[in-house]
Amino acid sequence: MMVVDKIKDIREIIKSQKSQNKKIGLVPTMGYLHEGHLSLIKKAKENSDFVCASIFVNPIQFGPNEDYDKYPRDIERDLKLLEENGCDLVFTPSVEEMYPNERLTTITVSKITDKLCGAYRPGHFDGVCTVVAKLFNIFTPDIAVFGQKDAQQVAVIKKMVEDLNIPVEIIASPIVRDEDGLALSSRNTYLTDEERRAALILNKSLKEAEKLLVSGERSAEKILDAVRKTLEDEPQCKVQYISCVDPDTLDDLNTIGDKALIAIACYIGDTRLIDNLLWSVDK
Ligand code: AMP
Repeated sequence: MMVVDKIKDIREIIKSQKSQNKKIGLVPTMGYLHEGHLSLIKKAKENSDFVCASIFVNPIQFGPNEDYDKYPRDIERDLKLLEENGCDLVFTPSVEEMYPNERLTTITVSKITDKLCGAYRPGHFDGVCTVVAKLFNIFTPDIAVFGQKDAQQVAVIKKMVEDLNIPVEIIASPIVRDEDGLALSSRNTYLTDEERRAALILNKSLKEAEKLLVSGERSAEKILDAVRKTLEDEPQCKVQYISCVDPDTLDDLNTIGDKALIAIACYIGDTRLIDNLLWSVDK
């Protein structure tokens, strides 16, 4: 596995791989990897010939009061996991490599970034889109894999790619959970044992929603009420938002048709956690 921290070296390697007709796959991450990230590597391997991951804690997607400084990092462990999982190349740039001079350009996807997480994390998706657009320009990948865990991110990146005609196929990969149902997240490391137990309420509330959907309930209001009630059963859980939206446009739904995204964000103690249920009729 190649470990590369300079953009010009990435460009040379990718050029050589493309000259051998290799299809390039990219998995952008912020590191502190878990099975969720590794499932994206697996998906990239199934859909490309040369699998690249990036590990970069992107400062411009964190708000001033967010956890950029304390975000967990363990590069040695990450590299070992990526190698064991058959990744071909890892890009580990410094902040200076990615943002060497004053940056005057920002990619903004409007409207669909005003809701869900975007409503509570101003500037977050500008930071995400800007770094992902840079990574797309550096790697020129054929495919890029993103986790459905960050459902709004998937919708926003797809829209950016469509609007800017970026020649990459975006593949969304399902949420990976711990055995007890908690969606894996690098931020789960912030939770105390007691908070981790309380955090199970997120998945439990989505299971309630799924049960109602399976039983034929199509009123978003009724489903959201059930989710809210379940979340409120857990005293340590403070709800930030609960929404039922179209998975692509992120428009609020009143009545659920073929597909819906039920997305939640909650604080457990000081830790903000997100989870979601992607519902589709053929599922
Ligand atoms: P992050 O390192 O948090 O920026 O995440 C990098 C990628 O991994 C993103 O596309 C996330 O959506 C994805 N990801 C994070 N957690 C999970 C999970 N539990 N299941 C599937 N994908 C995930």
